[in-house]
Amino acid sequence: MAIVTLKEILKDAQNRKYGVGLFNTVNLEMARAIIGAAEEEKSPVIIGLAEVHIPYGDLSTLAPIMVKFAREAKVPVAIHFDHGMTFNLILKAMHLGFSSVMYDGSSLSYEENIRNTKEIVKVAHALGVSVEAELGHVGGAEGGGDDGHEAHYTKVSQATDFVDKTEIDALAIAIGTAHGEYITKPKLDIQRLIDIRREVSVPLVLHGGSGLSDNDFRGCIQNGISKVNIFTDMSVTAVKTIARTLGANTDMSQCKNENEIVQLIAQSVAKQLSNQSLKISYPDLINITMQGIKEEVISKMRLFGSSNRA
Ligand code: ZN
Repeated sequence: MAIVTLKEILKDAQNRKYGVGLFNTVNLEMARAIIGAAEEEKSPVIIGLAEVHIPYGDLSTLAPIMVKFAREAKVPVAIHFDHGMTFNLILKAMHLGFSSVMYDGSSLSYEENIRNTKEIVKVAHALGVSVEAELGHVGGAEGGGDDGHEAHYTKVSQATDFVDKTEIDALAIAIGTAHGEYITKPKLDIQRLIDIRREVSVPLVLHGGSGLSDNDFRGCIQNGISKVNIFTDMSVTAVKTIARTLGANTDMSQCKNENEIVQLIAQSVAKQLSNQSLKISYPDLINITMQGIKEEVISKMRLFGSSNRA
């Protein structure tokens, strides 16, 4: 299967009302898990690297791996640079074979966001690369800044103007989600989503998807979301899988966030290791973790309705 653009992969999703997951990777193993899941589910998939994750997975090292996996996959794959904020890195991603980039100017003024997004679109479209941009601001770790607050939600009145002026291929909207893990239960503004969907023609994107309930996801997709970004849920699954594999004998259900889980696991594993020698090799640990991530991705694909659409 060829590498496809974001625009191509989301067209069918928008027409037939399902969601395609963007699963961000920071290494070879996560990339294998994501592509493996897509092939098993016969699902179109978007594999990505977020600018903020570059310290974990270097762009120029990971890009050739992502391109190779995408090219050899039995399903359509878009390769996406997530939350690009640095002009040079966005260009570098395009140069390295990414078929889609997100420019995140959501923390800038409306006018500056339009101006910068337009510049990226001009270069990207000349190279056959799709562009996603964000209007309103989804808070939390990835985009930087504060958490989801109504003042930062996407304004329906601005959405059409923004899309018309920038000529982007997909629009990320802020309707109450936040990046990373939720401290309180998110309350989504579905009516706002419905209103934006009515006004705007391009596919809509939901950021901060990890931690939402299955019903939240279904509601968003039914009402017009075509792309859902996932990273934290995969990360949490990986950590829990490693813990169980290393024999951490602990109940993680009371943990409030990823940090607490990691601390609890570290204590439990340390106790285990002081009693006995480690019986698992590092390659085996990697493979088991990869399998855990793959199962998480598969469950998301089924939930988003992208399984058997490739
Ligand atoms: Zn995001």
